[in-house]
Amino acid sequence: MQKYYYEPARQIPVAAETDVLVVGGGPAGFSAAINAARQGVRVILIETAGAVGGIATIGMMSHFTGSVKSRFYEELLSRMAERNEGDQKGVRTVTIDTEQLKTLCLDMLVEAGVELRLYTMACAAIVEDGRVKGVITESKSGRQAIMAKEVVDATGDGDIAADAGVEYHKGREGDGLMQPVTIMFKVAGVDYSRAVFPGSFETTVDTPKGELQALAREKLPFPAGHVLLYRSTLPGVVTCNMTNSIDIDGTDAQSLTKGEQVCRSQLNAIVAFLREYVPGYENCFLISSASLLGVRETRHFKGLYTLTKEDILNCTLFEDWVVREARFNFDVHNLTGASLDKTGVQKYYPKDNYYSIPYRCLLPAGVDGLLLAGRNISGTHMAHSNYRVMPMCVAMGEAAGVAAALAALRGVDPKEVPAAAIQAVIE
Ligand SMILES: Cc1cc2nc3c(=O)[nH]c(=O)nc-3n(C[C@H](O)[C@H](O)[C@H](O)COP(=O)(O)OP(=O)(O)OC[C@H]3O[C@@H](n4cnc5c(N)ncnc54)[C@H](O)[C@@H]3O)c2cc1C
Repeated sequence: MQKYYYEPARQIPVAAETDVLVVGGGPAGFSAAINAARQGVRVILIETAGAVGGIATIGMMSHFTGSVKSRFYEELLSRMAERNEGDQKGVRTVTIDTEQLKTLCLDMLVEAGVELRLYTMACAAIVEDGRVKGVITESKSGRQAIMAKEVVDATGDGDIAADAGVEYHKGREGDGLMQPVTIMFKVAGVDYSRAVFPGSFETTVDTPKGELQALAREKLPFPAGHVLLYRSTLPGVVTCNMTNSIDIDGTDAQSLTKGEQVCRSQLNAIVAFLREYVPGYENCFLISSASLLGVRETRHFKGLYTLTKEDILNCTLFEDWVVREARFNFDVHNLTGASLDKTGVQKYYPKDNYYSIPYRCLLPAGVDGLLLAGRNISGTHMAHSNYRVMPMCVAMGEAAGVAAALAALRGVDPKEVPAAAIQAVIE
């Protein structure tokens, strides 16, 4: 039986008051904070980790995938190119140097005048009369309140929206299954002149010892069992998306702990597999692994509109678009094992279609003063598998930041900011 401890009510300090408060410093939150600050309002960004960038940096991501029409995303790629090293210096690429990006994100936030609060977790929403007024944080400084005119929830899991009472379901409609989690890692010592880089589940590679995806299914500890390898910007270094843990709930600390353990337990076996079976990897060795477990999917919120697979397939251009010309595939990893789910498609997705995301997907139903940005906007399991990639999250953040700033400047709720006003800034 669940036991309870009664925590006595106590007074906590209001640590700060601001116009726009962004919770979560991943691709969506980082972008939201900068774009809000560029509208001339006071912005605070809270991040539970010691670095910004979220999955893009501390999640050790390989590359920005898919594409979108976003000025801020283009700016980010140009700024990344300046920081690439060696013969990659100045080369504009979607490949991520995670160490450089960590510092770049931080620099861009500081340049924009965003007040940063790292090592700070938002643990509750402050809601009065149906309106989010701020958040309660826990950190080395203790329990504090941060008050804001508008709050952007860019936590990936929608921690603030959930606590504020916004309706949601987890994972796939019907059975609640969520996409698997992964610890990304890097190996060095790869001979690029002979190395192979299978970048999708459907990419098969025949070798003298057998076909690589089939070998992975046979040799790697379940639920690992696929080969996804990506070039980096550094000589001999390859980013690996190959650990895999299923039945993990990214909103539950014990479950996250299990995911971390399962993925870490696969690391040495995968490196041994690479050495044994993958051309060019004979002398590779593990150099680093992500310090943030890669959670693909958790909560789907009820928004003023919920994006669907059909909206994406039909390339619907919503009148109130805030993200447009988004292109990617339905990237559903196998919910019960390795590789691709039967509903997913990577390599064989027709690349010529594109879609838009309406402002209403960023507006949670039933609560004022709050915007959603990133993988936690309102969308179905299938739609989410597409828009969860980082270019789209950056573009959503750009729109959410502008919208929050306009709402604060006009003294209105985000729902009252016309999409046309946001479009006028971001197009
Ligand atoms: C293993 C894996 C591989 C992927 N591969 C690719 C790829 O190759 N290319 C691509 O484009 N996309 C890829 N994606 C998708 C993409 O990385 C994520 O969907 C995207 O990063 C989501 O961005 P976000 O800003 O919404 O959330 P996140 O990147 O998850 O960032 C959320 C941030 O909020 C912080 N946070 C969370 N809760 C709180 C809280 N309560 N208080 C304070 N801070 C909090 C977190 O620490 C984190 O920094 C991958 C995802 C995973 C997991």
